[in-house]
Amino acid sequence: MSWEHIESYSYWVLFVVTFLGVAVWESFRPKRRLSAPPERRWGKHALVLAVSTIISVGLYRVSPIVVAMYFAGSRYGLLNKPWLPLVVRCILTVLLLDLVKYATHRGFHSLSWLWRVHQVHHSDPDFDVSTAGRVHPIEVILTQGAYFVVIAVFAPPVAGVLAAELLSAFQSFFGHANASLPAWAEIPVRHVFVTPDMHRIHHSEEVVEQFRNYGDIFPWWDRLFQSYLGAPAAGQERMKVGLKGYQNDASLGVGFMLTQPFLRERKEQSSPVARAEQGV
Ligand SMILES: [Zn+2]
Repeated sequence: MSWEHIESYSYWVLFVVTFLGVAVWESFRPKRRLSAPPERRWGKHALVLAVSTIISVGLYRVSPIVVAMYFAGSRYGLLNKPWLPLVVRCILTVLLLDLVKYATHRGFHSLSWLWRVHQVHHSDPDFDVSTAGRVHPIEVILTQGAYFVVIAVFAPPVAGVLAAELLSAFQSFFGHANASLPAWAEIPVRHVFVTPDMHRIHHSEEVVEQFRNYGDIFPWWDRLFQSYLGAPAAGQERMKVGLKGYQNDASLGVGFMLTQPFLRERKEQSSPVARAEQGV
């Protein structure tokens, strides 16, 4: 079986199993009451995910594995040196690609024009497993592009790239669960992986909390670069998620989600940087 077959097979199996697992978990043990029924949210977010995936795949026509295979023999890559054990190179690859996700996510919050795109993800008035699919096509294209560039430059091992992809796919659904780990598990797990309680803080309506917890797979980058926040000011049950001014049904429209970056910005919803400068 080729690497491409292993990639697509393992990715889609993990995608379906993780989605169903988290969906069942949050159905039986929901952390917070949703303002719109899940069946309405899931259908709309699935449509946005499908549009983003079709556009991104249609544009690039390659997967991270294919890019990694193409550059495997690069003379300039730092992660294809045979004197470094494969397992070490794989671990470094997962860490590097997770750091890229952290950096691009932070960039989406720091630059006004990137925030216009990323706010589609944050304008979800609720937070559940389907929020993971609510990502604008431009964000998918830019994030994937940064990923490809880093793979091309560092020439990491294919197995490491696959491991990073699978971990990220798992975290995407797990991190957006409308559920919490049991109290005894939350702290130890949070030392290693981003948990739903940790990522939910990033979706807070409070801008200062949106500037926290950017991490995708590991929480270490947030701790290292001092963007970690352990708990929201209002508490997990009472905190508001989403963006001010978008707590309504219209925020769930597929047309709205795809056009939001191009709409005139509402005053109260100007970029996080502008708002932080104003002390809001
Ligand atoms: Zn964000």
